[in-house]
Amino acid sequence: MSTQTLPRTLILSALLLALCGSTLYLFVQSRSQAETITALTAEKERLFSENSARTQALLTEQNIANTTITELTTRLAALTTELEDAEDDLRKEKNINDNFEDQIKEISGTIGILDKLSKTDEELLQKYSRTYFLNENFVPMKLKKVDQDYILPGKKDQYFHGDAVNFLTDMIDEAKSDGLDLKIVSAYRSFDEQADLKGQFTQVYGTGSNAFSADQGYSEHQLGTTVDLTNPTVGGAYVSFKETPEYQWLLTHAQRYGFILSYPEGNSFYMYEPWHWRFVGVDLAGDLHRADATLYDWDQRKIDEYLVSIFD
Ligand SMILES: [Zn+2]
Repeated sequence: MSTQTLPRTLILSALLLALCGSTLYLFVQSRSQAETITALTAEKERLFSENSARTQALLTEQNIANTTITELTTRLAALTTELEDAEDDLRKEKNINDNFEDQIKEISGTIGILDKLSKTDEELLQKYSRTYFLNENFVPMKLKKVDQDYILPGKKDQYFHGDAVNFLTDMIDEAKSDGLDLKIVSAYRSFDEQADLKGQFTQVYGTGSNAFSADQGYSEHQLGTTVDLTNPTVGGAYVSFKETPEYQWLLTHAQRYGFILSYPEGNSFYMYEPWHWRFVGVDLAGDLHRADATLYDWDQRKIDEYLVSIFD
């Protein structure tokens, strides 16, 4: 080998060696990169997988939440329906109770009316005049002695129906406060008293007494709710009573105390009796007064409707 050849060989060797080195370096480098890529890919897959799992978990949670909401909505709807049903039932129950209460009230009312009627003489609003006969045994359920102050001086004790006597005395008091002096001449008369009275009248007036005095059993005085009124000036001179301011006052005010004039001027039952006043209750007296009618003008059935409230 020449001296020229040696350096060339050395150079080649060196170059070869350098090439090998480079190649090796590149190879190593390439391996390292491949490993890095593999590692990154693995990491990416891990992350992807983790993300999927988390997403899945979230979706599951959301599903559960959705299901719960749906269930709650359904239960709420069911409860609302139950509540509405319960309200309906309650309403029905209340209606039944209300109806029942109404029925009870109605029955109580009817019992009240029957009770009131059972304690009221049914004769009190009957028309007793020639055609209507009051049983000789009839005596009002309650009779009360009238205070002496209301009776015309010199007259005997007078009795009036216990439930109507206050209407009578209130009326006389009211007239007094208007400066008038009403006095009672005669109030309740029993069957026998009426018979005696009619006997006396007949002795004096003969059959003419029929025009102003009822036979026993046909007199309103037997009811205990009828009164003959006068003033001290007129006294027992009945007919003159029509000239008095007391009579004029009665024509305007008596109905407010439940009293009516049984036989006004022009009636077809008796002669005009301005002194003879009958208690029929405030309602009936007011209605008759407004209608300008007498008790004898109206149908008995219509009159009977007032019986229950006669003392109200
Ligand atoms: Zn009379």
